[in-house]
Amino acid sequence: MAGRDGIDQPWGTRTPYGPGGEWPVRVDRHLADGLAPADVDRWVRSAAVLHSNGDGLDIAVKDGEIVGVRGRADDRVNRGRLDPKDLFGWQANASADRLTTPLIRRDGELVEASWDEAMDRIVEHSKELLAEQGPSAIGFYTSGQLFAEEYYTLATIARAGLGTNHLDGNTRLCTATAAAALKESFGSDGQPASYTDVDHADVIALFGHNVAETQAVLWSRILDRLAGPNPPEILCVDPRDTPVARAATLHLAPLPGTNLALMNGLLHLIIADDRVDHEYVERCTVGYEDLKAMVAGYPPERVAGICGLTEAEIRAAARLLGSAGRLLCTVLQGFYQSHQAAAAAVQVNNLNLVRGMLGKPGAGVLQMNGQPTAQNTRECGADGDLTGFRNWANDGHVAELARLWNVEVSRIPHYGPPTHLMQLLRYAENGTLRFLWVSATNPAVSLPELRRIRSILAQERLFLVVQDAFRTETAELADVVLPAAIWGEKTGTFTNADRTVHLSEKAVEPPGQARPDLDILLDYARRMDFRDQDGAPLPPWHDAESAFEAWKRASAGRPCDYTGLSYEKLRATSGVQWPCTGEHPDGTERLYTDGEFFAQPDHCESYGRDLITGAPVEPGEYRAMNPDGKAMLKAAEYLEPHESPDETFPFALITGRTIYHFHTRTKTARAPELQAAAPESWVEVSDGDAKRLGLHEGDRAAITTPRGEVRARVRVGGIREGVLFIPFHYGYFDTDDPAGHEGGRAANELTMTDWDPVSKQPLFKTAAARIRGLDALGGAR
Ligand code: SF4
Repeated sequence: MAGRDGIDQPWGTRTPYGPGGEWPVRVDRHLADGLAPADVDRWVRSAAVLHSNGDGLDIAVKDGEIVGVRGRADDRVNRGRLDPKDLFGWQANASADRLTTPLIRRDGELVEASWDEAMDRIVEHSKELLAEQGPSAIGFYTSGQLFAEEYYTLATIARAGLGTNHLDGNTRLCTATAAAALKESFGSDGQPASYTDVDHADVIALFGHNVAETQAVLWSRILDRLAGPNPPEILCVDPRDTPVARAATLHLAPLPGTNLALMNGLLHLIIADDRVDHEYVERCTVGYEDLKAMVAGYPPERVAGICGLTEAEIRAAARLLGSAGRLLCTVLQGFYQSHQAAAAAVQVNNLNLVRGMLGKPGAGVLQMNGQPTAQNTRECGADGDLTGFRNWANDGHVAELARLWNVEVSRIPHYGPPTHLMQLLRYAENGTLRFLWVSATNPAVSLPELRRIRSILAQERLFLVVQDAFRTETAELADVVLPAAIWGEKTGTFTNADRTVHLSEKAVEPPGQARPDLDILLDYARRMDFRDQDGAPLPPWHDAESAFEAWKRASAGRPCDYTGLSYEKLRATSGVQWPCTGEHPDGTERLYTDGEFFAQPDHCESYGRDLITGAPVEPGEYRAMNPDGKAMLKAAEYLEPHESPDETFPFALITGRTIYHFHTRTKTARAPELQAAAPESWVEVSDGDAKRLGLHEGDRAAITTPRGEVRARVRVGGIREGVLFIPFHYGYFDTDDPAGHEGGRAANELTMTDWDPVSKQPLFKTAAARIRGLDALGGAR
């Protein structure tokens, strides 16, 4: 598969297989125009970096340049396949507008500077603020796209070097709810299932997960099962008519903001019809009676009214889920970025728990990730978690970290939960956070209510450092910009959504003076002269492999145990799933096969939260509720969203993505095939609404919410009535207003400042909006 095929046929040709069979190999490849495999000087081992699937691939190098990619046939994730972003996205590396020197702001302008000048400014500001205000004046906002070694280094610097609690990742927008749901149900993060469960499942239920566009190669695997003998049945829950919906046995399109009511309704029927594995529930869980009592209040007639579905649809879905012999459930942003996100995602775990569908081939839950290295942000503790899935409320866990880093326990802030991004922004807004270091992410396009975000980031009193490969909308607002090397230009490991660890090796030199994020962070640590309690440099490691060895030690004995892995092993295999230990040297395909969880009070990552208020559960309360560390069936009442359609704003607005772009298009807009496939933003309107409003395909329209207005071309169809969809990829860097001061294009001009109380994930699928055609009013097409 190459050239236009990768665009027009993003899932490629079918290689059918049956239940329990091995997914056949199909090797995809794309090389720069005019090149054949024989022209390639060398192939360098890596994995896909523009989504969370973790497709194993080799990077083709010729004359010191990246010239293409090919899938690896022996890889456990993709068996050779590549998706459109894998095939074409590498071209961004050689883009002419890469950042190649540091920039500093002088007289209001960003001007070129040396590394010494740029780092001196950063260090000077850090030291001043530490002296004036202490570590809580300094915060970091990182990514789901760096490598594990870089996150672990950042976590060490922030927690043990500076001693700040303010470190989060853009995984907050993305997988915070996955992590929260896993902690609430199983006591710790850690994906229970494996992609190989697709090979065995007889029902695959996708909740708010348009896998066809978010993880196209995993969708190819499902399509190949659908094309083979005894195909699985598919349940799709999504208000849009996606490729998944079109292939589904049953498609439910609930009103945005009603996922929890739907899940409660499905559990109501499954329990009422006694589709419960009582032996499993008794042996492995706590909380069943409370769950049963709660969902008793959600009969299908009530749920149908809340969700805008028919009773028959809800009953049919419950029948499908209740009769499955091997049930695989997956969850993504449709749930994670919605009202009552964690509570709804937890109900998917509950579904599998009450049905006893966990830890067996074809039976499990995949609480998905969105980004390639989001799992590492979480496990290394570069977000609102502590390193190694440790529990900030467990003094023993904090003491363990202090021993690892050889610092006083008091150096590691654990007086409260690590600060989540939305709170961090609040601190910046009110002036207590004075220094924000943003790496490999673009909040000036990706965060909700952009007018507010821009005004926070542009404040004089906030010292903003941006570390990126390109001059993003956020970089436009920075005081210092550091040019970073990216995938293909540095070595490190990353872990996908089914716990598969890959090694990604350096293939080419970074452009100009760009440096790997790891080098930049270590440089900062040396210049700040961070020391452990014996006076040795902190962190003590000096390159990617020594950082990996240190991270392994930090992971020892924790759910994400890497101690059985090494660069050598990762070079000899193509993807190994953690935990990987001396006892399980080949990794672990599924968690919880024995009905044992990471939920013991002394071991768990979190004591959990109240699913409605987000209030933390006290350690004593947790011990009393779950002394033996079983899985927890937690229930929650449905509440109405904080902003619902009304007369002024009659539509529910949701945002999402297309298969051809990633995030804010920083890389994908610079890959010609991808940009040509989706060059401009759009708004999806149902047929009925379009007819009523006199909107036609291709018309220009203005979409307004209480936060702002954007303009986009109309696409008619593909969504339920009363709902609008806008992709969130489109910002301003390729317009005349590269910082986006004027607004008008990015979907997040419209979204609201609100977040899930448990996961603290911002809500991108809860906003009331109106739409009006511009052409009908005389606007030019
Ligand atoms: S764009 Fe997708 S992958 Fe990236 S942070 Fe948002 S939800 Fe996650």
